Parts: sequence; structure tokens; C-alpha cells
Amino acid sequence: KLHNEVQELRGNIRVFARVRPTTQNDANNGAEALATIRFPNEREATQIEILAAGESATGTVTMKNHLFTFDRIFQPSATQADVFEEIAHLTQSVLDGYNTSIFAYGQTGSGKTHTLEGAPTSITSADPSSDDGAGLIPRAVQMLWSTAESLKDKGWKYDFEGQMLEIYLDNINDLLGKAEVDKGKHEIKHDKGRTTVSDTVVVPLETPAEVFKLLEKAKRRRQVAATLMNERSSRSHSVFMLRVRGTNATTMEACDAVLSLVDLAGSERLANSGSGADPVRLKEAQSINKSLSSLSDVISALGQNKGANHVPYRNSTLTWLLKNSLGGNSKTLMLLALSPMAAHLNESLCSLRFATKVN
Ligand code: ADP
Ligand code: MG
Repeated sequence: KLHNEVQELRGNIRVFARVRPTTQNDANNGAEALATIRFPNEREATQIEILAAGESATGTVTMKNHLFTFDRIFQPSATQADVFEEIAHLTQSVLDGYNTSIFAYGQTGSGKTHTLEGAPTSITSADPSSDDGAGLIPRAVQMLWSTAESLKDKGWKYDFEGQMLEIYLDNINDLLGKAEVDKGKHEIKHDKGRTTVSDTVVVPLETPAEVFKLLEKAKRRRQVAATLMNERSSRSHSVFMLRVRGTNATTMEACDAVLSLVDLAGSERLANSGSGADPVRLKEAQSINKSLSSLSDVISALGQNKGANHVPYRNSTLTWLLKNSLGGNSKTLMLLALSPMAAHLNESLCSLRFATKVN
């Protein structure tokens, strides 16, 4: 194997959390207070502590400390480069033939898209990888191509192809298909460890620039769909799959794996889920809730049983689509995005508890 002694010590599931800085928008919304978030154990950068109001048995409001420990915590001051540094080796595993998946989890506005894609310009600019604000995807793409190039000396030749899907109300939409807004029926098939989705476009990719073009096209498609159906991108999962096939003419080795980068739907609970709620929103919320809890069920089943017991992949389209990238000898990273604002504290606590379940 080429570059990895990496993950073997503690299983193949990692959880990182990142607290975003405050934005202009926070200030405009008159979001007064920052939540009380502390980072004990600064050197290890594995702990996050939240101070939140709780209610005692007698009904008096008290302040309660919640301490969470993950594999890595990023403070608001962390740059995109800092985050990528910790994730680079994981994304390299795809060149060694490991299916690798990275999920960004968190409420809408917590920084999922910023972490994966980067600042708004960084996917659409001519060379996203030279942009300081560029997120994980452009950085990973650039690195995979340059690593593949450097492995030519050792006889390796790599082929890349990409696919960009959206899961909305548990249905798959192809973001690269012929139709501006996909209304097709797509079926997920698993065959000998490979996953295909019927009637979807898979694009051969020669250069990073071609990847960025593909991502930009998908982004436009999502925006078209969004204007037709309100802002819906936060209520659907977007899944970028990069398949990497390598052959070595010298050693006769071969590998075939997929890197999946998933921008999950916002994890926030519907504020008013009572009878007054908009029925579409209610359906969306139920569907998101179901797929996110399926994801945590699958990941925790894998963590506990080491594959021995039943893993409930089939409970949602998301987990069924990513079956081959969850479990087996695949590698999974959950990236928890957190808002620093007091107004979002309850959702942040829910996210942290979700992540504790899969950790
Ligand atoms: P989500 O995708 O979770 O809904 P976004 O990634 O769109 O959230 O982030 C919400 C807002 O916060 C955006 O304006 C984004 O640019 C900004 N933001 C998020 N994370 C950071 C960060 N680390 N540094 C600077 N701005 C950020
Ligand atoms: Mg987003």
C-alpha cells in the first residue's frame, strides 16, 4: 500500500468538529450573543465544552457544562488549509483502493458547504485550488491529481470519473443529466462491491479543471431547482462521487475505489411541526430526519459489530447509495459543522450528541 499506516488504530470512522467564525450575516440579524464554547485541552484539540442553560428538577434555570471529545476539533480561527491538513491523508486513501466517504453534518448555516466547497467563489473561479478560501473538495481534487502524477514513475496509471447526485425526499436526482431539473426514476444497484445508479451521467475526468466545471454545472442545477421550489439545497443531500481506478503495468496491481463527499441536508428540527406546519416542509423534515438517523444507525452498527450483525443500509436512500462506502474496509469521516451563536446552541448540542453516537 502506498500512503497509509493511517487509520488502522481505532477503526475506520473518524469524527471532526469545526466551529465557524461569526459572519456579517450573524451581526445583521442582530445575533447578540456568542454561545459559551470552550476548547479545553488546546494542545490535543480534541475537546469542546459548551455551557448551556438547563433546568433543575425544581424548575430553576442553571448553567450546565457539556463536554464532548472527538478526533479533532477546529476552532473558529482554523483556516481551510488547517482543516485540509488533517484530512489530506484520508482522501489519499482512495488512490490505495479504499472507498472513502466524508459527510458534512450540521444545521443550515453552520458551515457545511463552506468546509466542503469553500468560499462562494472558490468552485467557480478558474483555479479554485489557489484560492485561500477553497474548501476540502478543490484541495482534495488538486492533491489527488498531483499524487497520481507523481505515482506515474512507479508504474501507476489512474483514471477518474465523477458523478453528482442530489437526494431530495429520499429520491435521487442527477445534477449532471440532460434535463435542467431531473424528474427521472433512478435505481441503485450493487454488484460485486460496485454501486451504479440507473439513468445517471458519469463523467470521465482528465484534469482538475474538468472536475471544477462539473461541480459548477451541478451547483447551477441545484440553484435552478431551488428557485422553482424555494431554497431547497439545505433540505437535500448533495453527493459528489469520484471514482478512481488505478493500474500498475509494472507490478500488475490494480485498485478501484470511490471518494464520496456528502453535503448533508440541514439537521435542524422543524420549529413548528404541529398541525400548522406547511405539509411540504413537514414531509421534507421527516425525510431528512429519517435519512440522518439511518446514517447514524448504520455508522454505529458498523462501529459496534465490526460487520458481524445486521447493518440497516436499506432504511434510507442515502445509506443504500453509500453502502459500499460505509463499512468493509472503507474509511468514513463525519465533519460536524457548528455555529458559534447562542441562538443556535440547542441545535449545536443536538449535532454534538448525534456525533457522539457515531463516534
Ligand atoms: P451550511 O452549508 O451549513 O448551510 P454555509 O457553509 O453556507 O453553511 O455557511 C454559512 C455562512 O457562514 C456562509 O456565509 C459562509 O460563507 C460562512 N462561513 C461558514 N464557515 C465559515 C468559515 N470557516 N469562515 C468564514 N466564513 C464561514
Ligand atoms: Mg450548505
